[in-house]
Parts: sequence; C-alpha cells; structure tokens
Amino acid sequence: MDATPSVIVIGAGFGGLAAAHHLREAGITDITILERADGVGGVWRENTYPGAACDVPSVLYSWSFARKHDWSHRYARQPEILDYIRSHARRSGLAGLVRTGAEVTAATWHDAEGRWTVRLADGEELRADVLVSAVGQLSRPSVPTLPGVETFAGPSFHTATWDHDVDLAGRRVAVVGTGASAIQVVPAIVERVASLTVLQRSAPYVVPKPDGTYSARQQRRFGSHPRLHRLTRQGVFHLSEQLNRTLDSDGPLAEVLHRAWQVHLRRQVGDPALRERLVPDYPLGCKRLLFSNDWYPALTRPHVAVVTDAISSVEPDGIRTSDGRLHEVDVIVFGTGFAATDFLAGIDVRGRGGRRLSDAWDGGARAHLGMAVPEFPNFFVLYGPNTNLGGSSIIGMLEAQAGYVARAAAHVRDRGPVEVRRDRAAAYDDEMQRRLGESVWSSCASWYRDPSGRITTNWPGTVREYQRRTAAFDASDFRVVEGAVR
Ligand SMILES: Cc1cc2nc3c(=O)[nH]c(=O)nc-3n(C[C@H](O)[C@H](O)[C@H](O)COP(=O)(O)OP(=O)(O)OC[C@H]3O[C@@H](n4cnc5c(N)ncnc54)[C@H](O)[C@@H]3O)c2cc1C
Repeated sequence: MDATPSVIVIGAGFGGLAAAHHLREAGITDITILERADGVGGVWRENTYPGAACDVPSVLYSWSFARKHDWSHRYARQPEILDYIRSHARRSGLAGLVRTGAEVTAATWHDAEGRWTVRLADGEELRADVLVSAVGQLSRPSVPTLPGVETFAGPSFHTATWDHDVDLAGRRVAVVGTGASAIQVVPAIVERVASLTVLQRSAPYVVPKPDGTYSARQQRRFGSHPRLHRLTRQGVFHLSEQLNRTLDSDGPLAEVLHRAWQVHLRRQVGDPALRERLVPDYPLGCKRLLFSNDWYPALTRPHVAVVTDAISSVEPDGIRTSDGRLHEVDVIVFGTGFAATDFLAGIDVRGRGGRRLSDAWDGGARAHLGMAVPEFPNFFVLYGPNTNLGGSSIIGMLEAQAGYVARAAAHVRDRGPVEVRRDRAAAYDDEMQRRLGESVWSSCASWYRDPSGRITTNWPGTVREYQRRTAAFDASDFRVVEGAVR
C-alpha cells in the first residue's frame, strides 16, 4: 500500500469532521469528505426551526480539540453551533477536504483490489482504501404516513426541513409530536400564532433546563483561564455521566429527577385536567428526558390545545382524531423525529463477496464497538449501532470513534486490509443486548428500537467506558483480509 491510505468519509457533521481531524493527526493525509448538502454542519445545518438549540451544555457539546470559550448561552442555539462548526472547519483547513453536493448512493468492496469503490448520485465513482460512514443517526426525518395527508390544503413540513417562507403569524398551527424538537418549537412560535394544536401520542418527562447567558466577563474569564474552562468541562462531563448511568439503569438519581419533573409540572401547570394529560405512561429515562423551562407554560396558554386522541386522518381543512373531531388548522408542523434505526439507509453498501450491509443488518443493525461489521473490510461507522446516549454529549462518542478509526487506518497502512472477526463482533453484540435488556430502555416502545423491538441505537454504558474500550485499536479483534492486495 502507498505511504498513506486513501480515506473517504461520508458526511461533514460533527462526526465526519472529527474523523478527518484525527486521521490527519495520525499522519493520514489522503482524505476526502463527501457531503450531499452544500456545506458542513450536519444536523445543525439542517435543523433551522424556531427555538432549535442543543440540550447538553455547550461547554461539553463541542469538540475537545476545538474549545470555544465564548458561547453566548449555556445551551447554544442552532445558529451559534453551526457557526462554530463552520469556523473551525475553515480555520483548521478541514473545509478544504470536503466535497459538497456529493451524495453517496453506493459503496462496493473489491476483493481482488482490496479497495472500496464509492458511487455518487451523479454516477461518478471514487476509490478509497478505507471507508468511513459519518451520516449520523438523526439525518433522515421521519414523517408518519397519515391517511389523507396529501389532501391537506395548507403548507406542512417537518421540523428538520422548516419552510421559512411560511409566515406563521396569525395562522392556526398544528404541531404533531412532543419530542425534543417539538418542545423547542412550540414555545418559540406560541406568541405568533392564532391557535396552536399540539398532538401528543406520548407525554415526555420535562425537567428544568439550567440555561442562561454567559456575561462578557465570564467569556473573558474562560478565554484567559483555559484551566477553568477545562475544569468546567470536566465537571459537566462528570454530571452527564451520572445522568447516563441513571438513564440506562433507572438508578437512584432517577428518583431525584422524577421528583424534579413532578415539581416542575405542578409549578408550571395549574389546571389539573391538563396536568393529567402531561403525565408520561412509562418509567423516566425510557424515552429521551427533555429539558425546558417554557414548554409547560406554553401549553397553558388559552389559544393552545393539547390533544391526546390518536390522529385518524388528515383532511384539506385539518386533522381528524379518533374521537371524530376535526381540528381545523392552516399549517401542520411534523415534530415526529427521525428514522434513527435505518442506519445508512439510502446507501447500497456491499462488502466481501458482494454481501449487502442491509442483509447483514436484517433483524437489526449491529457492529463491533458500534463501528466494524464482519465481511465489510476497512469499513467503519461513526454514530453507528448502539452508540447513542440517553443523557450526554454525542460528541464524546464521536471523538472516541474518530480516534479509533484513525488508529485503524494507520494499522491498515502498516499491515493491509482488515475485517472484524465474526466471533468478536457476535460476543460484543450479545453483551450489548444483554445489558440493554436490563436497562430502562427495555420498558417501553421508543425510537431507540427497530421494528423487531431490538434496541439498536443506544449504548448501555458511560462515555468513559466507551472511551476506554476504544482507546486502542486491538488488532486481535480483526483478521487480515485474504486475497486483498496490500
Ligand atoms: C435538532 C437536533 C438537536 C440535537 N441536539 C443534540 C444535543 O443537544 N446533544 C447531543 O449530544 N446530540 C444532539 N443531537 C444529536 C446529533 O445528531 C449529534 O449530536 C451529532 O450532531 C451527530 O453528528 P454526525 O456528524 O454523526 O451526524 P449528522 O450531524 O447527522 O451529519 C451527517 C452528515 O452526513 C450527510 N449525509 C448523509 N447521508 C449522506 C450521503 N448519502 N452522502 C453524502 N452525505 C450524506 C448529511 O447531509 C450530514 O451533513 C441533536 C440532533 C438533532 C437533529
């Protein structure tokens, strides 16, 4: 093999850019990042809905190798996060590795050549020794197939594809769903709209968000005392690890959070009938715990209705629910989340002997350390199966994966193509499913499960454990690929 293997990374979000950073640090310079959109940023480029913000403190929801000391808020808003990603990509030169408007539709491993061919939507083909998927878990919006949805007379769109040409002022708006995006949208638009109908299938647990602005003095202090910044990050990391532990095991902190939710709901919602509708019917942590100070108050406004009857159809004038009522609206916003368990959907990945990734993942996606799949040599997935978190920054996981991938690519450079051993991958998967089966996530239906009921998105441990297990590239988990040219 050449002195440096060529690497193609698919996706220029937090993950793909972290992978490129770590590859460069490992001395691997032949890197191309293929991005279907017109720029870097991933979900933070796509999700421009009103109120979009992170729900992990920004001091932690940022790359460890690109510290930012002057966040304007404790929980940054979408424009500032996107600006952070763009500026770092520009300053570090990573932007120069990105090819935009390049949608990957297929990737095929050639046994004889020991390389990948990557095909783009326009038919162009590129070659690479190592292929890294960084397409994210939340980049495919999920819109429910409601009967009659195409007959709706007004505009309708998903939160991730917000139509900014639609003026909501004075309009009757329906928001379908009460997940992480919906609870940000509703308070952000409630003052503008004539009426707001919130269609709730399942009530979320919502606890106070310790948000606030950073003063110029605090920003300067972080800037001039990097140690203070580092300690703050470590402190937030430690707290978020407690949250991870709690959310995957329903541990003692769950009791405290449950109490915090009860008090929050009671303080913010006076009407007992409304309050009753806002009580979740599953244990805390099973679905994503949400943080907001203005979700419950928005629902108490006189022009807001919380509808818990199931949607039976959409008609030209609105949404009909199972009780027969038509909720007349001018605009429908789908806050219905993402097809998180459809990992790499839309890319026809074929490994050794033409084996399809979609077949290998029939019955639920799985990968060794969430990254490597038997029969798919020199292929690594970022934010892959069982690497999502219930309560902490995904960037911690992405950076651990990026470092591992860089070490793997260096190994490929030195030793030739590798493929994860089937027995190691199977043992790892057994461990994941056993631990997940004992976790709180097994006690309800959620987007963490694939259609078969397997929990394929979440990691059952702490970030620290994942960092430890991925800190070295253990070559004994892999075998050298027979027949491939070095
Ligand atoms: C609204 C929202 C808020 C969130 N808030 C938080 C938070 O507070 N804390 C947290 O930890 N996580 C949060 N997340 C989760 C978030 O997904 C991760 O934190 C992180 O941004 C994932 O980065 P990524 O690079 O893996 O994926 P993404 O950001 O999804 O980037 C994937 C990139 O791949 C590109 N791509 C996809 N398919 C192809 C293809 N076929 N060809 C070429 N390019 C392709 C996409 O265009 C995209 O740019 C949030 C997600 C959303 C949607």
